[in-house]
Amino acid sequence: MRRSRRVKIIATLGPATVDKAVIAGLVRAGADVFRINMSHTDHAGLASYVRMIREIENDMSRPIAVLVDLQGPKLRIGAFEEGSVHVRKGDVFVFDSDPKPGDATRVRLPHPEILAALKVNDSILIDDGRVRLHVVETTPERAHAVVDVAGRLSNRKGVSLPDTEIPITSMTNKDRADLDAALKEGVDWVAISFVQRPEDVIEVKQITQGRALVMAKIEKPQAISRLEDVIEVSDALMVARGDLGVEVPLERVPGLQKRINRSARRLGKPVVIATQMLESMILSPLPTRAEVSDVATAVFEGADAVMLSAESAAGQYPHEAVSTMSRIAEEVETDAIYRSIINAQRGELPNPTSADAIAVAARDVAQTLHSKAIIAWTSSGSTALRIARERPQSPILALTPKRDTARRLALVWGVHALQTRDATDIEDMVGRACEYSESEGFGVVGDRVIIVAGMPFGTPGATNMIRIAHLGEQGCPPKD
Ligand code: PGA
Ligand code: MN
Repeated sequence: MRRSRRVKIIATLGPATVDKAVIAGLVRAGADVFRINMSHTDHAGLASYVRMIREIENDMSRPIAVLVDLQGPKLRIGAFEEGSVHVRKGDVFVFDSDPKPGDATRVRLPHPEILAALKVNDSILIDDGRVRLHVVETTPERAHAVVDVAGRLSNRKGVSLPDTEIPITSMTNKDRADLDAALKEGVDWVAISFVQRPEDVIEVKQITQGRALVMAKIEKPQAISRLEDVIEVSDALMVARGDLGVEVPLERVPGLQKRINRSARRLGKPVVIATQMLESMILSPLPTRAEVSDVATAVFEGADAVMLSAESAAGQYPHEAVSTMSRIAEEVETDAIYRSIINAQRGELPNPTSADAIAVAARDVAQTLHSKAIIAWTSSGSTALRIARERPQSPILALTPKRDTARRLALVWGVHALQTRDATDIEDMVGRACEYSESEGFGVVGDRVIIVAGMPFGTPGATNMIRIAHLGEQGCPPKD
């Protein structure tokens, strides 16, 4: 199965998608990566999702990436007897440490240190700021608050405390246990929530030791103020607009999205645009015009991936949400103005390495020759990443001996990855590149392709070769 778009789609799994058949349907509809949100998933659920995804991957013979999202020091309220309650402006609502399910008057805030830290007049924002309260009275075990903005409070919604000094560590004990479980399951990507400093990312990398790639979620002003340093140590970024839009004024989010996108591209790191992209599709089979425009903007910005959260995890139309996203992306990418917008985003190379120079050259050669594909022989995936950074017009076919690399690349703009044994010599390298170009549907006899590789074969970081080839009756005729 080959996608006809470059941008990738991440679908979050949840109660709406616990069936293998439903998840397989999402892959067919366009999902390239599945996100497992550890805020709402236990270890048994994680294991079951990973098992189903691997089975589907096997059935469809396509690498699929699994992204595990660690909750981080996100504060959440407890659960309600009825699942949710409505609070009205002026109501007094109590946050306490009682594990009993909540009701219209109270709910548990399962963080004793936070209850102790809350002061009179501190704001309490629930569910990405949809419901707002302020504290009017405190004891060490409870806080009485008055509702300023009415709305629905439901199970385990997030809590933001912009006015409260709280001692937060980057990884909670739960995150460590979840990370261990995720690594045992062999997941491909791990996302860290509420990153504030490069050290937060480094801390996780010391645990993962390359077993999974690490994505930093940008959702705190502290991370923005050290953006370049955070990007430098991360394998990818997520513009986590949900919490970002609570932590900074909402109207700053679009500009920050563009800035994060640009910085990430410059440093060659994939970037994911997340949260509320098709929010109304949680309850409706059709998106709003504004949502379509938002997805389109991310695609025009050249983001690597666009993400669905509750739309696929808990909505009534997960399949429609994925297919809608896919259709928007396909339409944008064939729009007459798309190429010129993407080309205008090209920046200078951060590192004058031969691998980067080869990637730039491959893009230019492919464009001049109208090549049907750029084929990258890649071990770690870094050659494919460098070519993707150039946002070439031709699709990228990544050939890698490593299954992990093929899966990880499922997140990356324009890359169609395939696991195959490493090339043995130049003839094999060219021959199989051409065979796969045809068998994967990139071109037909007579079409031109560009092959990028490194010699000696199988040496990571040795990218130093570009080859132009014609697809022939039996792969690439040697006389090319
Ligand atoms: P979350 O992260 O869904 O885990 O909160 C995404 C965001 O904040 O946008
Ligand atoms: Mn978040």
